[in-house]
Amino acid sequence: MAVKQSRSKQSNSNSKSAAKARSAASSGHQHKKEFGQNFLNNGRIIDQIVAAIRPKATDHIVEIGPGEAALTAPLLDVVHKLDIIEIDNDLIGPLTQRFSQKPAFCLHHADALRFDYASLLAPDEPYIRVVGNLPYNISSPLMFHLLHFAPRILDMHFMLQKEVVERICATPGGKTYGRLSVMLQYACQTEYLFSVGPENFTPPPKVESAIVRLIPHVQKPVVAHHEQRFAELVKQAFSQKRKTLRNTLKGWLDAEQIQACGIDPTARAETLSVSQFVTLANLYHQLQTA
Ligand code: SAM
Repeated sequence: MAVKQSRSKQSNSNSKSAAKARSAASSGHQHKKEFGQNFLNNGRIIDQIVAAIRPKATDHIVEIGPGEAALTAPLLDVVHKLDIIEIDNDLIGPLTQRFSQKPAFCLHHADALRFDYASLLAPDEPYIRVVGNLPYNISSPLMFHLLHFAPRILDMHFMLQKEVVERICATPGGKTYGRLSVMLQYACQTEYLFSVGPENFTPPPKVESAIVRLIPHVQKPVVAHHEQRFAELVKQAFSQKRKTLRNTLKGWLDAEQIQACGIDPTARAETLSVSQFVTLANLYHQLQTA
């Protein structure tokens, strides 16, 4: 067991998980809104999430935001290495006390938004797996941060606000399709697994939640020649959702150049596939470097 202090530097079913969840819910911890602390209290849902993750004895898993260990405890029963990243000082003592005897357990008192996930890999280790019931207030920037480590991540399972999972998995033309859909689908295969109601948390959040599975592409179906410019172009295209591409991309690509990509310049960003965004970004990159 280890505790790494990197932050200082800078209801329910009768299952085993239900009993652990009940004991966590009654621990007297003051839930902190600023850290998005809505703790799972339903053992049946916890079992369902762990079943979706399918942890194996050989796995090295990283859990973001263990809270009172609703997912940590059942994962620790299985995997050979579990790194957990928690920002809340008040949770560090109880987590250490409870799990310090487990050899697989390694606690990082750190901010998941700034964490170097590649640093967790041993030299001979190809991948980590990442899981978490994420704090909803930082879920999008956190996923964008994790995308930097995508080649070293086998898969990710996250509980998020249901609306965010819908956006991640949306197809072009739908109301929820946007920048998050394009950027995550460019990097990963995305799958909406199941919904979770607010009654399964203490305290209950104001919104519905859902579990998403993200599997980084080993070989991307389409490749942007300059990923930073691709990301910037996608952001620009969605900056004014109601406007046409010829307007939002003014100064980036003109109508003729958009047309040359086989795309109607009067179309809106929300109708374009990931592949069409990549085509536009690659032309933009080519013009910038010419
Ligand atoms: N995993 C627990 C569960 O399912 O009951 C708790 C989930 S709770 C929604 C989110 C957790 O993430 C809390 O423990 C919170 O303190 C932690 N957290 C919030 N912001 C964080 C950050 N920037 N870095 C690391 N942990 C964070």
